[in-house]
Amino acid sequence: MADLLQGLELPKKYYGDDIFVRWEGCDKHPLAKAEEAIEARRKVIELLRNSSGQRSSKRALAARLAKCRAGRRCLSGACPECIRAHQRWFTRTSWTAMEGRSEEFVSVTIVPTRWDVPGKETMTGDLETARKLISLVMRFAGAGVALGAIDLSFNERRGQLGSELKCAHAHLLVSKVGLPVWHRRLRMMLPSTPNVDRPLLVEPWDGNPKFINYTFRPNLSRRVSIDPVGDGREKDRANTRTPPLLNHQRVEAALMLDGFGLVNRIIHPGFRLDTNHKVPTFVRIED
Ligand SMILES: [Zn+2]
Repeated sequence: MADLLQGLELPKKYYGDDIFVRWEGCDKHPLAKAEEAIEARRKVIELLRNSSGQRSSKRALAARLAKCRAGRRCLSGACPECIRAHQRWFTRTSWTAMEGRSEEFVSVTIVPTRWDVPGKETMTGDLETARKLISLVMRFAGAGVALGAIDLSFNERRGQLGSELKCAHAHLLVSKVGLPVWHRRLRMMLPSTPNVDRPLLVEPWDGNPKFINYTFRPNLSRRVSIDPVGDGREKDRANTRTPPLLNHQRVEAALMLDGFGLVNRIIHPGFRLDTNHKVPTFVRIED
């Protein structure tokens, strides 16, 4: 069902500042306030217009974002206000679906690699490809109950500006049922590679909804590896800086996210999206 939806018509409160305080933000990635999201939308529109030239797709997207307002939301995956509202909704409904069951889940990050160019393995920068690969490996591994979202970063090595690789990946909460088996299978299907040191990260979840909030974050990362040993491999996160995206990356990300859609970012095996109510919710299929 999610594949058919670009974005959801959410009540006004999801666009404001007045609710859900206890779910929001974390020290490293605080959630934007409504006013900041409005300003971020203006900035995206400006960037799209300034870089559009003859490209009508950029102008068309800028025009759609410019019309986003209360009661007539654009629901674009590139709109900071609509992303923020969906992030709040996703955090709330996921948290509701998991409340009292946090000990049943672990946090998982998956970076799918692509092998379609022999000998030239790299991470995929295509959101749809990443979504398909992640869904596939999870199904084959037997990780059948999970909630999370697709994320995108621009990875580069220090001093090699312009060499960045787009990296589509997912942050998920996955049910511990069958964990030893699905963990082993995922490790087999997601080996570390020259470009991706840690394609699979499985960690305990402390039950804090901030992780859910993080999975659907609006601010994409630019990761610059410092590579202290100079052998072309990134050793760990301590050697990675995350400066803001460059303007051309913001434009590229806006076009990609708009084409992909907001709800399409969500991966939810074992849960169904119930759209029969005013505010859609995720419901465990077995419930
Ligand atoms: Zn919007």
